[in-house]
Amino acid sequence: MKQLKKAAAKKRKQAAISAEKSEEAMIGGIIEGSPDAVGVAVLRLNCGCRKMAAVDKDGEPASKVIIYRDNALNICEQCKADNGAYPRVKESFIHWLDPAPAPELQQRIRGKVFGNVPVH
Ligand SMILES: [Zn+2]
Repeated sequence: MKQLKKAAAKKRKQAAISAEKSEEAMIGGIIEGSPDAVGVAVLRLNCGCRKMAAVDKDGEPASKVIIYRDNALNICEQCKADNGAYPRVKESFIHWLDPAPAPELQQRIRGKVFGNVPVH
């Protein structure tokens, strides 16, 4: 038991950012409607809204881009105005479906989705 806990803690540390509970529900919904998805790109905006879209194995969008806030499709005024503009993105990551693609492929998809900006 102790060993398991230790392993879990290690795993959490390695994954710099992972989906929060509220995001997981949204990600689940997106994946359900996107049979080609290998992952969901999650952008956390500085206003608290979230922008998400499924991506396929080529790094192409596999769903519509969704912006939401507090589990509702009711976003803030700023996002209505700029549609969640990139400079306001605080954190971004891809939530991979299980099984996740090979690391090289993950890197390629990330590069395509986020461009050459460093992704944590
Ligand atoms: Zn917003």
